[in-house]
Amino acid sequence: MITSVPPIAEPDPSALTCAGDQVGLCAGCQRRTHRYGRGGFPLCQWCAEPVKAKWGAAVRFLSTRA
Ligand SMILES: [Zn+2]
Repeated sequence: MITSVPPIAEPDPSALTCAGDQVGLCAGCQRRTHRYGRGGFPLCQWCAEPVKAKWGAAVRFLSTRA
Protein backbone atom coordinates (compact mmCIF):
# COMPACT_ATOMS: atom_id res chain seq x y z
CA MET A 1 0.00 0.00 0.00
CA ILE A 2 1.49 3.28 -1.10
CA THR A 3 0.55 6.15 1.15
CA SER A 4 2.81 8.95 0.01
CA VAL A 5 4.12 9.38 -3.49
CA PRO A 6 6.34 12.43 -3.84
CA PRO A 7 5.76 14.94 -6.66
CA ILE A 8 6.93 14.05 -10.15
CA ALA A 9 9.70 16.63 -9.92
CA GLU A 10 11.21 14.57 -7.13
CA PRO A 11 13.57 11.93 -8.58
CA ASP A 12 13.38 8.32 -7.49
CA PRO A 13 15.93 7.58 -4.73
CA SER A 14 17.61 5.10 -7.05
CA ALA A 15 18.45 7.93 -9.44
CA LEU A 16 20.55 9.55 -6.75
CA THR A 17 22.65 6.49 -6.08
CA CYS A 18 23.43 5.29 -9.60
CA ALA A 19 25.75 6.62 -12.28
CA GLY A 20 24.46 9.71 -14.04
CA ASP A 21 24.38 8.01 -17.42
CA GLN A 22 22.08 5.34 -16.02
CA VAL A 23 19.41 7.82 -15.10
CA GLY A 24 16.33 7.86 -17.30
CA LEU A 25 12.70 8.77 -17.12
CA CYS A 26 10.20 6.40 -15.56
CA ALA A 27 7.99 4.73 -18.16
CA GLY A 28 4.99 5.43 -15.99
CA CYS A 29 5.23 8.91 -14.58
CA GLN A 30 8.34 10.42 -16.28
CA ARG A 31 10.10 10.83 -12.97
CA ARG A 32 13.87 10.55 -13.03
CA THR A 33 14.89 7.05 -11.95
CA HIS A 34 17.69 4.49 -12.29
CA ARG A 35 16.59 3.15 -15.62
CA TYR A 36 19.65 1.87 -17.41
CA GLY A 37 22.55 -0.41 -16.64
CA ARG A 38 23.03 -2.82 -13.77
CA GLY A 39 20.07 -2.72 -11.41
CA GLY A 40 18.15 -0.42 -13.70
CA PHE A 41 14.40 -0.62 -13.94
CA PRO A 42 12.17 1.26 -16.40
CA LEU A 43 9.86 2.32 -13.61
CA CYS A 44 10.40 4.37 -10.49
CA GLN A 45 9.82 2.57 -7.22
CA TRP A 46 6.32 3.98 -6.91
CA CYS A 47 5.22 2.87 -10.37
CA ALA A 48 7.01 -0.45 -9.92
CA GLU A 49 5.21 -1.24 -6.71
CA PRO A 50 1.83 -2.29 -8.19
CA VAL A 51 3.63 -4.12 -11.00
CA LYS A 52 5.72 -6.14 -8.59
CA ALA A 53 2.66 -6.83 -6.49
CA LYS A 54 0.94 -8.19 -9.56
CA TRP A 55 3.77 -10.21 -11.04
CA GLY A 56 5.73 -11.09 -7.94
CA ALA A 57 8.90 -9.68 -6.45
CA ALA A 58 11.06 -11.66 -8.84
CA VAL A 59 9.76 -9.83 -11.86
CA ARG A 60 12.47 -8.50 -14.13
CA PHE A 61 12.82 -7.39 -17.67
CA LEU A 62 14.76 -9.88 -19.72
CA SER A 63 17.48 -8.57 -21.95
CA THR A 64 16.92 -8.97 -25.66
CA ARG A 65 20.59 -9.80 -26.04
CA ALA A 66 21.36 -13.47 -25.68
ZN1 LIG B 1 7.07 6.40 -12.04
